[in-house]
Amino acid sequence: MSNPSLLILAGDGIGPEVMDEVKKIIDWYGDKRELQFDVTEDLVGGAAYDVHGTPLTDATMAKAQEVDAVLLGAVGGPKYDVLDFSVKPERGLLRLRKEMDLFANLRPAQCFDALADFSSLKRDIVAGLDIMIVRELTSGSYFGEPRGIFDLPNGEREGINTQRYTTSEIRRVARSAFDLARKRDNRVMSVEKANVMESGILWREEVSWVHENEYPDVQLDHMYADNCAMQLVRAPKQFDVIVTDNLFGDILSDCAAMLTGSLGMLPSASLGALMENGRPKAMYEPVHGSAPDIAGQGKANPIATILSFAMALRYSFDQGAEAERLENAIESVLASGARTADLLGPEGGKSISTSEMGDAIIKALDASL
Ligand code: NAD
Repeated sequence: MSNPSLLILAGDGIGPEVMDEVKKIIDWYGDKRELQFDVTEDLVGGAAYDVHGTPLTDATMAKAQEVDAVLLGAVGGPKYDVLDFSVKPERGLLRLRKEMDLFANLRPAQCFDALADFSSLKRDIVAGLDIMIVRELTSGSYFGEPRGIFDLPNGEREGINTQRYTTSEIRRVARSAFDLARKRDNRVMSVEKANVMESGILWREEVSWVHENEYPDVQLDHMYADNCAMQLVRAPKQFDVIVTDNLFGDILSDCAAMLTGSLGMLPSASLGALMENGRPKAMYEPVHGSAPDIAGQGKANPIATILSFAMALRYSFDQGAEAERLENAIESVLASGARTADLLGPEGGKSISTSEMGDAIIKALDASL
């Protein structure tokens, strides 16, 4: 059996710095756990534009389609703000998501005990929080037709976006959510506005169909999106997996993520259809951007990107126990008081560098053996 393959696209700004720490972790798994990966690296975003005049070459796109998983750092930076829209760094990222048809965006909101005081909510509401929001990523209001700004005969203008979903679009993301739930606490909350939107009625019916016919062992409940927003800040620990559409998911996943504190801690995964080898098409990336304000200074927190690799272990490579080992190592490093600058509270304190944080996590991994 050949090793699983990874394409690393570190990108711009702090992307390469945080990805260097992930590479150490990948090497650790090869050395200490006999979990070898065939790793290829390539350019994306501004870094690709500088060399090739495009934020993603066809050759890199083809590689991304072939590998078992893509790990992405971040793209963008002020240097590229003046570029034409068609070659902006973000276009590389959007092309990857579109051509790999990554329809399920997984955004965990997990609160590490050592950081519970970072939340804007009270410690007891967020300590131990571990929820997963599955956002539909390729359809709904952001893509539906008709769309546009139109002139009306009376001289006014009209802006239109269309919330549109089909049976298959709803069923496939629902299956992603149910599959995830089976690897967690086995509960799914489907979120829409079936009280006022026909697309919400269809969403509820189709998610229920998938549940009854394919996942009767998983607990399914339904909630209106406005109530879900309230519940997320009132009692977020009631949820396990939340599945929702593109627009509601955009808002609810940001809200849930911020329950846990810093941008430097938030991973994500975007998954598509299963490939022939049974693995989903997949891209893993931190939620944060290229942070040009701190790039090149060794100040970036690598944990969001390392946690994204933990998601790859769990969701692409079926290595749930190893993912947990990595998450526990991060938890113990944070519990020891080690902090990158973004994790220092208002009272300040001493911070460690990007590579020191990576090294501390490796040490904690060693201690776990
Ligand atoms: P950002 O996420 O890059 O930074 C926001 C703030 O958070 C900054 O103060 C930054 O220093 C801090 N920060 C972010 N990640 C951090 C980390 N790992 N450790 C410590 N601090 C961290 O967002 P922005 O400033 O709005 O955007 C900067 C650039 O990144 C822009 O070009 C934007 O288009 C791009 N961007 C890319 C992505 C992506 O690649 N997925 C996402 C968002 C923004």
